[in-house]
Amino acid sequence: MRRLARVVPLVVLAATAASCTRLTPEQQFVQDVAQALGGADRVRAARVLTLEGTGRHWNLGQDMRPGLADQTFTVSVFTRAIDLSQHRMRTTLTRTPNFAYFQGPQAQTQIQGVDGDVAYNGNTPEKLARAGRVAVTDRRAERFHHPLVLVASALAGGANVSPVRTTGSDRAVDITTDAGVMTLVVGADNRPTRISSPASQINLGDVTITTRFSGYGDAGGFTLPATFATQTDDFTTAEYTVTSTVANEGTVEAPDTVKAAAEPSPAAPNVTVEEVAPGVWFLAGQSHHSVAVAFKDKLVLIEAPQSDARSTAVIAKAKDLSPKTPLTHLVLSHHHFDHSTGLRAALAEGMTVVTQAGNADFVKMIAARPFTRQPDALAKGAKPATVEAVADTHTITDGTRSLVLYHLAGNPHTETMLMAYLPKERVLIEVDAFSPGGTYHPYAANLLEHITKRKLRVDKILPLHGAPVTVKDVEAAIKPAA
Ligand SMILES: [Zn+2]
Ligand SMILES: [Zn+2]
Repeated sequence: MRRLARVVPLVVLAATAASCTRLTPEQQFVQDVAQALGGADRVRAARVLTLEGTGRHWNLGQDMRPGLADQTFTVSVFTRAIDLSQHRMRTTLTRTPNFAYFQGPQAQTQIQGVDGDVAYNGNTPEKLARAGRVAVTDRRAERFHHPLVLVASALAGGANVSPVRTTGSDRAVDITTDAGVMTLVVGADNRPTRISSPASQINLGDVTITTRFSGYGDAGGFTLPATFATQTDDFTTAEYTVTSTVANEGTVEAPDTVKAAAEPSPAAPNVTVEEVAPGVWFLAGQSHHSVAVAFKDKLVLIEAPQSDARSTAVIAKAKDLSPKTPLTHLVLSHHHFDHSTGLRAALAEGMTVVTQAGNADFVKMIAARPFTRQPDALAKGAKPATVEAVADTHTITDGTRSLVLYHLAGNPHTETMLMAYLPKERVLIEVDAFSPGGTYHPYAANLLEHITKRKLRVDKILPLHGAPVTVKDVEAAIKPAA
């Protein structure tokens, strides 16, 4: 009897355990995907995933025209190591530009990592510096953009997986991770075809980052993708072809020196003022500058760059300098993201944007973007964008002072660039066409051509990167080395 009594409860227990572990449809979904990748036990035991290969980068927000995807970097070396159980990842890559790049034509090595709440960057393993909060957030999310990492986290106890959705032959779940919600989409063979997650981008506001996977093959008993391509909304930013290795031990730590360093916080806006002529102020202080020009009836700001915070501070400074004239116009030199970051701050002020005709739709697009995740002033008080499109030249004048805008046609930096000229003051304002202090000046010859062709008399150039220069400085910079 005693023996039987002991046996019966065990049988009951076994039956109860079987009914308790009956999987929900979403748990079954995760199990099926794990099976397609090599089996749940194998996925659970994995510790470090290493990807090695080559690839290509695109130049989001920095191409020759808004929306274009022609400029690429060849990635000749790509290595990414990901810790599957902790928030650790390190990417090392070497890339070479396939276009006239301001940093020159040579290959550059970049190291980018994250370890918990510590992100870091550098060009060599010996020289890594701590990076800021945005890098932490972006890289923690990016770490989950691999099937093995996301499925390993979904297999872990307590993972929150949404009900399964079906679209055609695709099925999808949302997996809540501690780096946000990741949407995992699989095809009919249970192999992940893409992972996407919401993000916030300083120019575009609310975006979806999507990584697409293909070319599945054997990787030491796992079945993993050989190619993956990452998009910001519809724009492809990177693609890689890799071989994958999985180890059951090891990790990818940040160096102790990096962990010991303080997290850099975004620099508080520092707007310095230099009055270069009566009512013409050079607003510098950080890497990207602006110029304010006072007319009898209005104040015009040239450039709202770098960040919403800097541009908001620049706008406030311009208003302080000329309190009796309304700030009505922003001249946007070109569409590049680092020079158009403050567009929305200017639009929120009700300013009319004056820019080259090729940028007009871009300005309207930026004005209409959703900014719900990190609301800015325009998100809180939406206003329609008013754009004055300049074909070749346009003059803003009050009868006494004139500001003439010229299209820098043919400039290899961008096709939609304006420079600004004050004929009476003999001051030229330009950006990126010539930036003093750099080693490479691939866009400066075109600037000189325009100064000559348009017969401009220039005593002083205000570059919106760097300190004021003269035409002689530009000429000296583009002379071939003796
Ligand atoms: Zn630029
Ligand atoms: Zn620039």
